[in-house]
Amino acid sequence: MSTIATVGVIGAGTMGNGIAQACAVSGIKAVMIDVGDAQLQKGVAAIAGSLERLVKKEKLCAADRDAALARVTTTADYAALAGVDCVIEAATENPQLKFDILRKADAIASPQTILATNTSSISITQLAAVTKRPERFVGMHFFNPVPMMALVELIRGLATSDETIGRVSALAKALGKTPIVVKNSPGFVVNRLLCPMLNEAIFLYSEGVASAQEIDEGMKLGCNHPIGPLALTDMVGLDVLLAVMNVFHADFGDDKYRPAPLLREMVAAGWLGRKSGRGFYTYAK
Ligand code: NAD
Repeated sequence: MSTIATVGVIGAGTMGNGIAQACAVSGIKAVMIDVGDAQLQKGVAAIAGSLERLVKKEKLCAADRDAALARVTTTADYAALAGVDCVIEAATENPQLKFDILRKADAIASPQTILATNTSSISITQLAAVTKRPERFVGMHFFNPVPMMALVELIRGLATSDETIGRVSALAKALGKTPIVVKNSPGFVVNRLLCPMLNEAIFLYSEGVASAQEIDEGMKLGCNHPIGPLALTDMVGLDVLLAVMNVFHADFGDDKYRPAPLLREMVAAGWLGRKSGRGFYTYAK
């Protein structure tokens, strides 16, 4: 089983630059691909800023920072994927866009190269089917912020081979992460548990069972959660939670996943949480 020494990361946004950084600090070369120079420069600046903070906190020395930065290269040309051992697609969450990107990557990457996607909500089996290598296609679902978060969900599509799971599992460990292997299913494991819990907190709040502060205190002190569910919903974005609950409701066809009416109402009002300055709490702009 050959190890992965170079990774192509498609998308230099929040997740893509985090994945490239995690590779680079672990000694793995990362080439980031995005649509243009502006997006690539923003991605590199985010990595440089994040590494700088680690140096300030004395978690990384300056020489290691420089070596990590030197392992990250950027291009808008997909031809760079010809030389990588693994491609991790982390572009915008849009099925048609991902189909196009994956077809392109499949045509360029060597037949032994693994294609992985960081999608949160699109079926891994469906994405694998647009490529000619469904057995070497897998979900690698990282968590935000990638350099800090210890988990990677590895998602098996219907055709994903054991060898592919073995290789990406070794990659996740090389990045200092703990992988869990999950079958393709909406929300995988973590979001399937987390999002209905956040939705239920909104039901509790709208029924007047307790105040937002009391609900959040309850889960912090009663379950040792670092943040309460309503404060977390404000961080995730109410629109993002509503989109996920709508997918669960439609895909499982089960009313236990129905979005809380107050969630719909707040999204309609533009109260999206931190990013809009108002959600279950208010935030200074
Ligand atoms: P983002 O908007 O920060 O970044 C997406 C990047 O993709 C942008 O830089 C955009 O220019 C780029 N892009 C668009 N079209 C492209 C193309 N044709 N080729 C190359 N790059 C292209 O989004 P994000 O939050 O980083 O999310 C990326 C993926 O990760 C999504 O699938 C999302 O569901 C998933 N995800 C996000 C989170 C999160 O918390 N943000 C967590 C886990 C998974």
